[in-house]
Amino acid sequence: MIGVCNHYDGELPLLISVPHDGVHIPVDISARMTQAGLAVPDTDWHVAELYDFARDLGASLLIANYSRYVVDLNRSASDDVLYPGQVATGLCPEQTFAGDGIYVEGGVSDEERSERVEQYWRPYHEQLAAMLQAKREKHGYALLWDAHSIPSVVPRLFDGELPELNIGTNNGSSCDAARQSKVIAAAEAGPFSVAVNGRFKGGYITRHYGDPDSEIHAIQLEIAQRAYMDEASTVFDAGKAARLRETLRLMLSAFSDR
Ligand SMILES: [Zn+2]
Repeated sequence: MIGVCNHYDGELPLLISVPHDGVHIPVDISARMTQAGLAVPDTDWHVAELYDFARDLGASLLIANYSRYVVDLNRSASDDVLYPGQVATGLCPEQTFAGDGIYVEGGVSDEERSERVEQYWRPYHEQLAAMLQAKREKHGYALLWDAHSIPSVVPRLFDGELPELNIGTNNGSSCDAARQSKVIAAAEAGPFSVAVNGRFKGGYITRHYGDPDSEIHAIQLEIAQRAYMDEASTVFDAGKAARLRETLRLMLSAFSDR
């Protein structure tokens, strides 16, 4: 069995979490899935590759291997609602973002959901918590960047076309104000459209771990996929990615600046 996640340790206080780039699905689950589900269309495609430059900067990375259809690592284990009043994409989704069924029949029982939490959700969060704790012990603080991407247009989830860079700090509470301001300024200095605490304010990971009073500062970046790939084919676009990485590098540097 493939491990739940891979991690790479760097010297900086910065940890980049990539919870939605995995495409693996255990066979006991995939055997019950529809073609629409097996295509895992809601993957945060190529996000680990997009951020691979950050290892050279000294950042640590934590990258999930399993699909969000197995269990969504950016939801609480009790599946609390993240965005009241919006269509929910839950802990163990039964529909794709487009509204297609993921399972041929039935769905995910409470018992199976609990098993998936223990087998696939908890190991990622134990690793994430341990890495943050180690950084805080070593540096006196830790920085968590939760890295995501999504198609530019998802009518069931939001109106119109999403800005390219969507910074989420749980309305300002997951990261100290000075650090947020520097990251926002770095984003706005680049050629991309930027939203701050708009449709995406940070999911469970940002909200749960981000605690400035305890010297853990967290930011979620939701990137509209047109900024680095061809959305129709899901093919990585190296030229676009190079341009985006220039801005990401400045944002990560601003975040890491003391
Ligand atoms: Zn995501």
